Amino acid sequence: MKMSIHESKNIIEAKNVFKTYGDSATNAVSGVSFSVPYGVCFGMLGPNGAGKSTMMKMIYGVCLRDKKENSAIKVFGHDPGVNALPIRFLSGIVPQEDNLDEELNVEQNLKVFCKFYNIRGEQADKRIAELLSFMELSEKQHHGIKQLSGGMKRRLIIARALLNNPRLLILDEPTTGLDPQVRHLIWDKLRHLKRDGMTILLTTHYMDEAFQICDTVFIMDKGKRVAEGDPQELVDKHIESYVMEIYSKESFSIISKDVSEKCCRVDESGDAVRIYSGDYEKLREFSKHLGIKDFNLRQSNLEDLFLKITGSGLNAQQ
Ligand code: ADP
Repeated sequence: MKMSIHESKNIIEAKNVFKTYGDSATNAVSGVSFSVPYGVCFGMLGPNGAGKSTMMKMIYGVCLRDKKENSAIKVFGHDPGVNALPIRFLSGIVPQEDNLDEELNVEQNLKVFCKFYNIRGEQADKRIAELLSFMELSEKQHHGIKQLSGGMKRRLIIARALLNNPRLLILDEPTTGLDPQVRHLIWDKLRHLKRDGMTILLTTHYMDEAFQICDTVFIMDKGKRVAEGDPQELVDKHIESYVMEIYSKESFSIISKDVSEKCCRVDESGDAVRIYSGDYEKLREFSKHLGIKDFNLRQSNLEDLFLKITGSGLNAQQ
């Protein structure tokens, strides 16, 4: 298939992409294809080492994909491996690491980027004030970077990525290491941006982050796609609606005969025994035999989907 991006409704098209680092025998990214339409929040979800950051870096051109026939990446119609500059001008990039300049204060960090985008004078001051207000950092305008908390630094990096009014915002693990309150604030801001028409591409290893803000999740493991779609639809389609997690094999043995007789699906991999069923009452009935601290009965989610497909958890070490 030949890509005709200018007629495309997709902002990003990736086709059969591979990336091998050095002489490594394993591919960090291995034959990945996907499209990101305009105006959606597209999340790459997977455990550490799945290849998400590598894929992201190939999209904005700081990492080159392996040269292969029939392999392509197009972003706004440009190949990031050949000409990344127009992509950078149309995008805002929030890298995983906090790369603010500690010699400069909050406002000066933004001013440097304004110069890069040729935003000058009053226009720059206005844009900086707007974005500091949007990210709830106005009172920090003249503070040094070392005086900011981790959450404030992250919000400042997002503000910096928005200076050029990008059509595409790319975020690599936007809330890793942040406390729940800041994570929710960042999710609210991303939802706001999406409502205003921005396309968002992010990586995360947090199932709840993908569930909360993504229209489409692209689930990766060991450099490959394992599932893709609307998060709720994926769960509804592939997983029983409820799961009882039992924290010890001894507790599970109390009810295991009932479970096998009543044909629930049991997953014993990982840190707990998980009993899956579409019938909440059936699981509730099993739970009556257990102590209150022995189990958790809940709706199933993307973590359960990942476990079913790969046999390991999203936060398991690779
Ligand atoms: P993720 O973002 O999902 O955690 P990465 O893209 O960072 O995954 O890593 C995918 C694989 O590529 C891992 O095995 C990682 O160790 C390897 N890798 C990533 N960056 C480099 C690098 N610069 N050099 C060598 N190997 C790398």
